[in-house]
Amino acid sequence: MTPRNPRDIERETRPPRVGVLSLQGDFACHRRTLEALGVETIRVTLPADLDRLDALVMPGGESTTMLRLLESTGLRGPLASFVASRPVLGTCAGLILLAREADGLPFPTLGVLDVSVLRNAYGRQIDSFSAPVDVAPLEGPFHAVFIRAPRLRRVGEGVEVVARRDGEPVGVRSGRIVGLCFHPELTQDLRLHRWFLEQVAGIELPASAESMARGEGAA
Ligand code: GLN
Repeated sequence: MTPRNPRDIERETRPPRVGVLSLQGDFACHRRTLEALGVETIRVTLPADLDRLDALVMPGGESTTMLRLLESTGLRGPLASFVASRPVLGTCAGLILLAREADGLPFPTLGVLDVSVLRNAYGRQIDSFSAPVDVAPLEGPFHAVFIRAPRLRRVGEGVEVVARRDGEPVGVRSGRIVGLCFHPELTQDLRLHRWFLEQVAGIELPASAESMARGEGAA
């Protein structure tokens, strides 16, 4: 019999562990959503925080500030290695950081997702809005919050569009990488996080949290 990898054994005996990049932005809302799904969350601010994660979420916020902080904290290199091979969900500024091309930034993006984004393309903070979005892997519309959101100007070949607003792409997937122009963590709807964890990252959620997230068994 082949000896079992200690890392696999450790993974099977603990709850799934998901990092949330927490340099700036609305990382707290992502952590709440992930924890509602029975996942242990780790605030990622230092290179060592990326060790032993099953997946990573990169939140919305201000991509210029995040890029500056990635440089000054020394997190950029380790983060680039993580997103080159592991499951990652980027929302809004998180999507901008993952994109191959984006405008008006002080440092290059990580460039692992073959899309081009136009930042702040819907106008200023005051022009933020919410709207129903069609998300292909989910049944029924998702109520999406857009805050100074980027627009997807180009979606590369082999990148799948998973969410559309009035036909326009607002969410994409390339293998184990998902990028969304909007903020699923600002609603009570856990479906997009659950889809990412289960279907994209291949994480098995604890059964009780999963059935509660589906609205079953809640009193
Ligand atoms: N406008 C922000 C930026 O360019 C993104 C907005 C957001 O993450 N809600 O970084």
